[in-house]
Amino acid sequence: MVPSRRTWNLGATPSLLGLWRVGRAGEPQPAMARPAPASPAARPFPHTGPGRLRTGRGKDTPAGGDEDSGVHSAGRPALAQCRALSVDWAGPGSPHRLYLTVQVENLKEKLISQAQEVSRLRSELGGTDLEKHRDLLMVENERLRQEMRRCEAELQELRGKPGAACTGCEHSQESAQLRDKLSQLQLEVAENKGMLSELNLEVQQKTDRLAEVELRLKDCLAEKAQEEERLSRRLRDSHETIASLRAQSPPIKYVIKTVEVESSKTKQALSESQARNQHLQEQVAMQRQVLKEMEQQLQSSHQLTAQLRAQIAMYEAELERAHGQMLEEMQSLEEDKNRAIEEAFARAQVEMKAVHENLAGVRTNLLTLQPALRTLTNDYNGLKRQVRGFPLLLQEALKSVKAEIGQAIEEVSSNNQELLRKYRRELQLRKKCHNELVRLKGNIRVIARVRPVTKEDGEGPEATNAVTFDPDDDSIIHLLHKGKPVSFELDKVFSPRASQQDVFQEVQALITSCIDGFNVCIFAYGQTGAGKTYTMEGTPENPGINQRALQLLFSEVQEKASDWAYTITVSAAEIYNEALRDLLGQEPQEKLEIRLCPDGSGQLYVPGLTEFQVQSVDDINKVFEFGHTNRTTEFTNLNEHSSRSHALLIVTVRGVDCSTGLRTTGKLNLVDLAGSERVGKSGAEGSRLREAQHINKSLSALGDVIAALRSRQGHVPFRNSKLTYLLQDSLSGDSKTLMVVQVSPVEKNTSETLYSLKFAERVRSVELGPGSRRAELGSWSSQEHLEWEPACQTPQPAARAHSAPGSGSTSRPGSIRRKLQPSGKSRPVPV
Ligand code: ADP
Ligand code: MG
Repeated sequence: MVPSRRTWNLGATPSLLGLWRVGRAGEPQPAMARPAPASPAARPFPHTGPGRLRTGRGKDTPAGGDEDSGVHSAGRPALAQCRALSVDWAGPGSPHRLYLTVQVENLKEKLISQAQEVSRLRSELGGTDLEKHRDLLMVENERLRQEMRRCEAELQELRGKPGAACTGCEHSQESAQLRDKLSQLQLEVAENKGMLSELNLEVQQKTDRLAEVELRLKDCLAEKAQEEERLSRRLRDSHETIASLRAQSPPIKYVIKTVEVESSKTKQALSESQARNQHLQEQVAMQRQVLKEMEQQLQSSHQLTAQLRAQIAMYEAELERAHGQMLEEMQSLEEDKNRAIEEAFARAQVEMKAVHENLAGVRTNLLTLQPALRTLTNDYNGLKRQVRGFPLLLQEALKSVKAEIGQAIEEVSSNNQELLRKYRRELQLRKKCHNELVRLKGNIRVIARVRPVTKEDGEGPEATNAVTFDPDDDSIIHLLHKGKPVSFELDKVFSPRASQQDVFQEVQALITSCIDGFNVCIFAYGQTGAGKTYTMEGTPENPGINQRALQLLFSEVQEKASDWAYTITVSAAEIYNEALRDLLGQEPQEKLEIRLCPDGSGQLYVPGLTEFQVQSVDDINKVFEFGHTNRTTEFTNLNEHSSRSHALLIVTVRGVDCSTGLRTTGKLNLVDLAGSERVGKSGAEGSRLREAQHINKSLSALGDVIAALRSRQGHVPFRNSKLTYLLQDSLSGDSKTLMVVQVSPVEKNTSETLYSLKFAERVRSVELGPGSRRAELGSWSSQEHLEWEPACQTPQPAARAHSAPGSGSTSRPGSIRRKLQPSGKSRPVPV
């Protein structure tokens, strides 16, 4: 079976590898060199199965089944060689034994180098470095902890200190900010602590893993040692077996065979050991990789730690700064406190000094006050005595005071008298001034009122309007007479649109002056049907001047009731054909006479003229009704009659000033004149002619009087007619007169309208007379109305009285009344 056998040169024991090489090359080795020192390719592995010897496989050795097959195929001649050499195995210096010893030595070397390699790897891979790092980190950590504790202690200390010192101080806010900052830093430090502890944990884990790796390596080493021991044991057994085989030479062939078989087993065990070795190397490479990663992690941990250290350093610096600030603040506070204490002390010393001084002053005062107290006690006793005698003193004082008060009252009363006298004088002066003012403005005013066109005017050209007005001047009236425009200027012109109230407003100033003691005459002049009665009496729904005047008088009198007591009496009369008749009397047809007062005062009065005292508007209405009734019963054709007679409403206002006793009397004469139309044309005869003559005479006389008064003539022809004679008092002196010229606007009445307006203009345009006249007239003052009575006497209402001058309250002092002489001169109304 064995093709060739070669005997071993004992001087040079061939290695297994060398044997393989020989087998492979197919070339016989003349001499066996000592096996080469352990190389990775021929390194024995401890994990070789019992009774087997495996050949190591180098890195350069091609792997795979081919190789194995190569081994098996190429191994055969080597085995044959071994068998050939098996004769020498039994001896102590046999090549087989040498081979095994070399193998064992190789394995031992391998084990040592493996152990060295492991230790080197350990040192290389940094197992100890990790530990060192861990230890360093732990030391660092401990140091940081200590620093932290120190910082906390300092912080606590700082917190404790400024808390009391800085209460309410100006730095407390800054301290609070610093505290906040500190707490933030603490938080960050706590976070860092957490991170450190995590790192520690990681390091711990790595350390544990390293320990594990070490443990495993130790196990491997132990296994190796066991294998070695086992192999050496087997070697010994083999030696023993060889020895026993030598002793039994016959079955040597069998032994050789067994050895051959065992040699192949050993080879297999060797290859297994090599495989395991390979596996272990791979594991080691893996561990290296792991260690590398751990190194990287450690590096990052280092970086993190460095960052954390930098942060901690920063926080420490911050803390240091805050601490420094706090210390500075505390120092400044301490200084402030010391300064304040010093100042307070200095102040207290000064105050103490002052208090001491005060005390000394008080002591001296006390010493001086004692005698003062004694004198005060004496004074008090004296006062007590005085108080006892006080009632008597009081009585005396009261007596003297009463006397003084009586004297003062007398003085006051005399002063009062004086004041009253002055007041009266002032009142007279005021009235004089007022009179002067009125005189300057003109006592006689002439206004025109144009009635609207009525149904009675008819229709056609005769009823057309012939009167126009100036829109810019309410004192101008234009009349178109027979195609010729004629213009007139009066004091005021009322168009048909003017209401009763408008007209009344123009006259109401005159009416109220009656309350102040003036005599007033208001005449309505114009042709029949021009609106005289409408203006004076009006209608029940729209009353005229008469009723409105009385209403105004009532309201004015009521307003003054607290200071003045007034009585208002009313008389109504009619002048027809120069005969005067009482419209309120029991016998209206009785003719009344106008007479001079028997007291020689030159005043006129109408004996038998009824006077009604009125107190309300109702009274007035009753009076008017009564007057109308009288007129109606007397004449069957009232309208016609009324247009041929003058109707007079005479209102007398008598007043007494309650405080001064001053008396005033004013007379308001409201006259609705007879129609001014000319009757000559119509050829009137008999009674109509007589009426016309009388009317003409009386109206002419009125024109003359007004003209004379307005021109301030010395002679005023009052006696030319009953009307002017009756109104003499109310037309002269500082009396006021208003003539309302009523105008019909229609074409057919333009002739009468023209004459009426001419009359009005003539009356109005009379020039003022010479200055002496004015002075003479100006001397007529209202003094004649002023009478002094010490006590206020409320006048008794008179149901019916005779208005005889000089009797009762209507009397006037004759000494100051100017006698007016009637004159026969009269100017006729233009016809
Ligand atoms: P006189 O008294 O002048 O004869 P009246 O006063 O009797 O005239 O008036 C004649 C008519 O004209 C009456 O019917 C009257 O109502 C009317 N009348 C007069 N004036 C006005 C006026 N301003 N507004 C309205 N109607 C008027
Ligand atoms: Mg009339």
